[in-house]
Amino acid sequence: MDQQPIDGAPGRYWHRLDDGRIQCDVCPRYCRLHEGQRGLCFVRARAGDAIVLTTYGRSSGFCIDPIEKKPLNHFLPGTPVLSFGTAGCNLTCKFCQNWDISKAREFDRLQDKASPEAIAEAAVKSGSRSVAFTYNDPVIFLEYAIDVAQACRERGIKTVAVSAGYICAEPRREFFRHMDAANIDLKGFTEGFYKTLCTGHLQPVLDTLTYLKHETDVWFEITTLLIPGENDAPAEIEGLSRWVMEHLGPDVPLHFTAFHPDWKMRDKPPTPPATLRMARDIGRAAGLRYVYTGNIHDPTGQTTYCHACGAALIGRDWYDLGTWNLGADGRCGDCGARCAGVFEARHGGWGRRRRPLAVREPAAVQPR
Ligand code: SF4
Repeated sequence: MDQQPIDGAPGRYWHRLDDGRIQCDVCPRYCRLHEGQRGLCFVRARAGDAIVLTTYGRSSGFCIDPIEKKPLNHFLPGTPVLSFGTAGCNLTCKFCQNWDISKAREFDRLQDKASPEAIAEAAVKSGSRSVAFTYNDPVIFLEYAIDVAQACRERGIKTVAVSAGYICAEPRREFFRHMDAANIDLKGFTEGFYKTLCTGHLQPVLDTLTYLKHETDVWFEITTLLIPGENDAPAEIEGLSRWVMEHLGPDVPLHFTAFHPDWKMRDKPPTPPATLRMARDIGRAAGLRYVYTGNIHDPTGQTTYCHACGAALIGRDWYDLGTWNLGADGRCGDCGARCAGVFEARHGGWGRRRRPLAVREPAAVQPR
């Protein structure tokens, strides 16, 4: 815990305890803080008699990505998304694939200062259809993410949350009210996996998924990173797939993606492509209509097929789209069955490009 003077924007979701500490109620960590202490996520901290967000308005950098990279395969396919993160995380995954951002303790790397209005303006000017909160979990900077989302909506820009879904019920309601789409990382399907490798719990993530499905209009997809020997047993994959089918239905896309040795888990090999294909087969056998492989070259496993007639609807080769066999209403060009998702008459043409972007304050707009 840090003891340096702390500065930041007012934080929401906390309460005072009888012993004088302040408890953060954003995520199920429930950090209890004395004056000057930071929470586990490092970016929420106690300053005086309140919690502050120390990374409001600061970014680890902006990049325009294909929306498929989030990954979202059924949300405005082929369109560019202005992506950014801040620093810190509320999980401690040993296999973290973004550890340079999520584990950042040195905020001098957060060199890009950007108001919500500047980000929305940059999205419009760059032709991005959406803004994604990604690279680290937006739950921990929800005040900033929500202000950005509001500014985006005023400009007709959609918003995308890439999150582990590790958030308490009340902030969950507020946060997702401002999102148009989400990719939720379901890291494994056992409490032991979450406890041992992430020092978290599985149930709050499942609660977020069922909340999104049954109480919001947010379009969401699920990603599970398969780690050899940790969460890739066929029985665990089958349990996960069956849970999705039973609690969320057949239309929520599920992405099984490849692990690469990183952070504190360098003793495991990369996920074999055969494991990802096996997982996809299991998901489909459970009744799920849209199951994908990710982080490998697998056009078959990354193509969207019609659930009714089996026709290829959206062909993908990495992030390049090929086949497009959908009407504007998302109906199969062959049989007319509807494909779940958010589609337009044509797909975007962004392709696989990744373009860094400098976000500048509009001259007439003052930061909040
Ligand atoms: S958001 Fe951060 S400070 Fe709040 S409970 Fe979670 S880890 Fe702790």
